[in-house]
Amino acid sequence: MINIVLFGKPGAGKGTQAEFLKEKYNLVHLSTGDIFRFNIKNDTELGKLAKTYMDKGDLVPDELTINMLQSEVDKNPNAAGFLFDGFPRTIAQAEALDSFLENKGQNITATVALEADDNILVARLLERGKTSGRPDDQDEEKIRNRYEEYSQKTAPLMNYYKNQGKFYAVDGIGTIAEVNDRLNLIFDKLV
Ligand code: AMP
Repeated sequence: MINIVLFGKPGAGKGTQAEFLKEKYNLVHLSTGDIFRFNIKNDTELGKLAKTYMDKGDLVPDELTINMLQSEVDKNPNAAGFLFDGFPRTIAQAEALDSFLENKGQNITATVALEADDNILVARLLERGKTSGRPDDQDEEKIRNRYEEYSQKTAPLMNYYKNQGKFYAVDGIGTIAEVNDRLNLIFDKLV
Protein backbone atom coordinates (compact mmCIF):
# COMPACT_ATOMS: atom_id res chain seq x y z
CA MET A 1 0.00 0.00 0.00
CA ILE A 2 1.37 3.42 -0.85
CA ASN A 3 0.27 6.58 0.90
CA ILE A 4 1.46 9.83 -0.57
CA VAL A 5 1.08 13.37 0.67
CA LEU A 6 0.84 15.91 -2.13
CA PHE A 7 2.31 19.05 -0.66
CA GLY A 8 2.37 22.68 -1.79
CA LYS A 9 1.08 26.18 -1.32
CA PRO A 10 -2.47 27.14 -2.29
CA GLY A 11 -2.68 27.32 -6.06
CA ALA A 12 0.42 25.18 -6.67
CA GLY A 13 -1.64 22.72 -8.73
CA LYS A 14 -2.15 19.88 -6.22
CA GLY A 15 -5.79 19.29 -7.19
CA THR A 16 -5.08 19.36 -10.92
CA GLN A 17 -2.16 16.94 -10.67
CA ALA A 18 -4.00 14.67 -8.23
CA GLU A 19 -6.62 13.96 -10.90
CA PHE A 20 -3.91 12.39 -13.12
CA LEU A 21 -1.95 10.71 -10.35
CA LYS A 22 -4.93 8.97 -8.76
CA GLU A 23 -5.79 7.31 -12.11
CA LYS A 24 -2.26 6.34 -13.04
CA TYR A 25 -1.31 4.92 -9.64
CA ASN A 26 -4.75 3.67 -8.54
CA LEU A 27 -4.92 5.81 -5.42
CA VAL A 28 -7.92 7.15 -3.52
CA HIS A 29 -7.64 10.94 -3.69
CA LEU A 30 -8.63 12.73 -0.48
CA SER A 31 -8.67 16.51 -0.67
CA THR A 32 -9.69 18.02 2.66
CA GLY A 33 -10.55 21.31 0.92
CA ASP A 34 -12.89 19.48 -1.49
CA ILE A 35 -14.51 17.53 1.36
CA PHE A 36 -15.09 20.74 3.34
CA ARG A 37 -16.59 22.42 0.24
CA PHE A 38 -18.85 19.39 -0.33
CA ASN A 39 -20.08 19.77 3.26
CA ILE A 40 -20.64 23.50 2.80
CA LYS A 41 -22.63 22.86 -0.37
CA ASN A 42 -24.79 20.32 1.46
CA ASP A 43 -25.18 22.62 4.46
CA THR A 44 -23.98 20.01 7.00
CA GLU A 45 -22.96 20.93 10.55
CA LEU A 46 -19.33 20.29 9.62
CA GLY A 47 -19.74 22.53 6.58
CA LYS A 48 -21.21 25.38 8.62
CA LEU A 49 -18.35 25.20 11.10
CA ALA A 50 -15.63 24.92 8.48
CA LYS A 51 -17.04 27.80 6.42
CA THR A 52 -16.40 30.34 9.17
CA TYR A 53 -12.67 29.59 8.95
CA MET A 54 -12.38 28.95 5.24
CA ASP A 55 -14.05 32.18 4.18
CA LYS A 56 -11.34 34.11 6.01
CA GLY A 57 -8.53 31.97 4.65
CA ASP A 58 -7.80 30.52 8.10
CA LEU A 59 -7.11 26.85 8.68
CA VAL A 60 -9.99 24.81 10.08
CA PRO A 61 -9.13 23.58 13.63
CA ASP A 62 -7.05 20.42 13.78
CA GLU A 63 -9.47 18.23 15.71
CA LEU A 64 -12.29 18.79 13.24
CA THR A 65 -10.01 18.24 10.25
CA ILE A 66 -8.30 15.15 11.64
CA ASN A 67 -11.60 13.46 12.58
CA MET A 68 -13.01 14.16 9.16
CA LEU A 69 -9.92 12.82 7.36
CA GLN A 70 -9.87 9.66 9.44
CA SER A 71 -13.49 8.89 8.71
CA GLU A 72 -12.84 9.40 4.97
CA VAL A 73 -9.94 6.94 5.09
CA ASP A 74 -12.14 4.44 6.93
CA LYS A 75 -14.78 4.73 4.19
CA ASN A 76 -12.26 3.16 1.77
CA PRO A 77 -11.14 -0.12 3.37
CA ASN A 78 -10.19 -1.66 0.03
CA ALA A 79 -8.02 1.19 -1.20
CA ALA A 80 -4.68 0.25 -2.74
CA GLY A 81 -3.32 3.52 -1.38
CA PHE A 82 -4.18 7.13 -0.68
CA LEU A 83 -3.20 10.43 -2.19
CA PHE A 84 -3.59 13.07 0.52
CA ASP A 85 -4.10 16.53 -0.96
CA GLY A 86 -4.17 19.51 1.38
CA PHE A 87 -3.65 17.32 4.42
CA PRO A 88 -1.71 17.40 6.70
CA ARG A 89 -1.33 21.15 7.04
CA THR A 90 0.00 21.29 10.61
CA ILE A 91 2.48 19.25 12.64
CA ALA A 92 -0.40 18.06 14.84
CA GLN A 93 -2.21 16.76 11.75
CA ALA A 94 0.93 15.02 10.49
CA GLU A 95 1.47 13.33 13.85
CA ALA A 96 -2.17 12.28 14.01
CA LEU A 97 -1.94 10.86 10.49
CA ASP A 98 1.22 8.92 11.34
CA SER A 99 -0.28 7.33 14.43
CA PHE A 100 -3.61 6.67 12.70
CA LEU A 101 -1.82 4.86 9.85
CA GLU A 102 0.50 3.06 12.25
CA ASN A 103 -2.53 1.61 14.05
CA LYS A 104 -3.52 0.13 10.70
CA GLY A 105 -0.02 -1.27 10.11
CA GLN A 106 0.68 1.36 7.47
CA ASN A 107 2.69 4.53 7.03
CA ILE A 108 3.31 7.51 4.80
CA THR A 109 5.42 6.41 1.84
CA ALA A 110 6.49 9.90 0.80
CA THR A 111 5.58 13.56 0.63
CA VAL A 112 5.88 15.16 -2.80
CA ALA A 113 5.87 18.94 -3.02
CA LEU A 114 4.97 21.21 -5.91
CA GLU A 115 7.20 24.25 -5.57
CA ALA A 116 6.27 27.70 -6.85
CA ASP A 117 6.81 31.34 -6.11
CA ASP A 118 4.12 33.15 -4.03
CA ASN A 119 3.61 35.98 -6.50
CA ILE A 120 2.92 33.63 -9.39
CA LEU A 121 0.49 31.68 -7.22
CA VAL A 122 -1.44 34.71 -5.94
CA ALA A 123 -2.03 35.80 -9.54
CA ARG A 124 -3.07 32.25 -10.42
CA LEU A 125 -5.57 32.11 -7.53
CA LEU A 126 -7.08 35.49 -8.39
CA GLU A 127 -7.56 34.22 -11.94
CA ARG A 128 -9.11 30.98 -10.65
CA GLY A 129 -11.39 33.03 -8.39
CA LYS A 130 -13.11 34.49 -11.45
CA THR A 131 -14.59 31.07 -12.24
CA SER A 132 -14.19 28.87 -9.13
CA GLY A 133 -16.85 30.71 -7.13
CA ARG A 134 -14.63 30.26 -4.06
CA PRO A 135 -14.78 33.28 -1.73
CA ASP A 136 -11.24 32.49 -0.53
CA ASP A 137 -9.90 32.85 -4.12
CA GLN A 138 -11.49 36.21 -4.83
CA ASP A 139 -9.91 38.59 -2.37
CA GLU A 140 -6.17 39.24 -2.32
CA GLU A 141 -6.18 39.83 1.45
CA LYS A 142 -7.73 36.40 2.10
CA ILE A 143 -5.28 34.82 -0.31
CA ARG A 144 -2.35 36.47 1.47
CA ASN A 145 -3.77 35.17 4.77
CA ARG A 146 -3.78 31.64 3.34
CA TYR A 147 -0.07 32.07 2.53
CA GLU A 148 0.55 33.38 6.04
CA GLU A 149 -1.16 30.28 7.46
CA TYR A 150 0.95 28.16 5.12
CA SER A 151 4.23 29.81 6.19
CA GLN A 152 3.51 29.60 9.90
CA LYS A 153 1.77 26.24 10.23
CA THR A 154 2.33 24.16 7.09
CA ALA A 155 5.88 24.97 5.95
CA PRO A 156 7.39 23.30 9.08
CA LEU A 157 6.08 19.99 7.74
CA MET A 158 8.84 20.00 5.14
CA ASN A 159 11.39 19.40 7.87
CA TYR A 160 9.08 16.93 9.59
CA TYR A 161 9.14 14.75 6.47
CA LYS A 162 12.76 15.53 5.53
CA ASN A 163 13.82 14.24 8.93
CA GLN A 164 12.09 10.98 8.07
CA GLY A 165 13.80 10.89 4.64
CA LYS A 166 10.42 11.11 2.94
CA PHE A 167 10.45 14.52 1.29
CA TYR A 168 10.61 15.04 -2.50
CA ALA A 169 10.00 18.21 -4.48
CA VAL A 170 9.40 19.15 -8.09
CA ASP A 171 9.22 22.50 -9.85
CA GLY A 172 5.50 23.31 -10.02
CA ILE A 173 5.86 25.93 -12.74
CA GLY A 174 5.29 24.76 -16.29
CA THR A 175 2.47 23.26 -18.32
CA ILE A 176 0.19 20.73 -16.64
CA ALA A 177 1.84 18.01 -18.74
CA GLU A 178 5.38 19.11 -17.85
CA VAL A 179 4.64 19.13 -14.12
CA ASN A 180 2.87 15.79 -14.49
CA ASP A 181 5.97 14.27 -16.13
CA ARG A 182 8.13 15.49 -13.24
CA LEU A 183 5.75 13.96 -10.71
CA ASN A 184 5.55 10.68 -12.59
CA LEU A 185 9.34 10.31 -12.44
CA ILE A 186 9.17 10.45 -8.65
CA PHE A 187 6.01 8.37 -8.26
CA ASP A 188 7.44 5.62 -10.50
CA LYS A 189 10.27 5.19 -8.01
CA LEU A 190 7.91 5.09 -5.03
CA VAL A 191 5.33 2.56 -6.17
P1 AMP B 1 -7.75 23.98 -0.29
O1 AMP B 1 -8.88 23.58 -1.17
O2 AMP B 1 -6.80 22.84 -0.02
O3 AMP B 1 -7.05 25.22 -0.75
O4 AMP B 1 -8.39 24.33 1.14
C1 AMP B 1 -9.31 25.40 1.26
C2 AMP B 1 -9.47 25.73 2.73
O5 AMP B 1 -10.00 24.60 3.43
C3 AMP B 1 -8.21 26.12 3.48
O6 AMP B 1 -7.87 27.47 3.31
C4 AMP B 1 -8.64 25.81 4.92
O7 AMP B 1 -9.51 26.82 5.41
C5 AMP B 1 -9.48 24.54 4.74
N1 AMP B 1 -8.61 23.34 4.85
C6 AMP B 1 -8.37 22.41 3.87
N2 AMP B 1 -7.56 21.46 4.31
C7 AMP B 1 -7.26 21.76 5.60
C8 AMP B 1 -6.44 21.18 6.59
N3 AMP B 1 -5.73 20.06 6.36
N4 AMP B 1 -6.39 21.78 7.81
C9 AMP B 1 -7.10 22.89 8.08
N5 AMP B 1 -7.85 23.52 7.18
C10 AMP B 1 -7.95 22.97 5.95
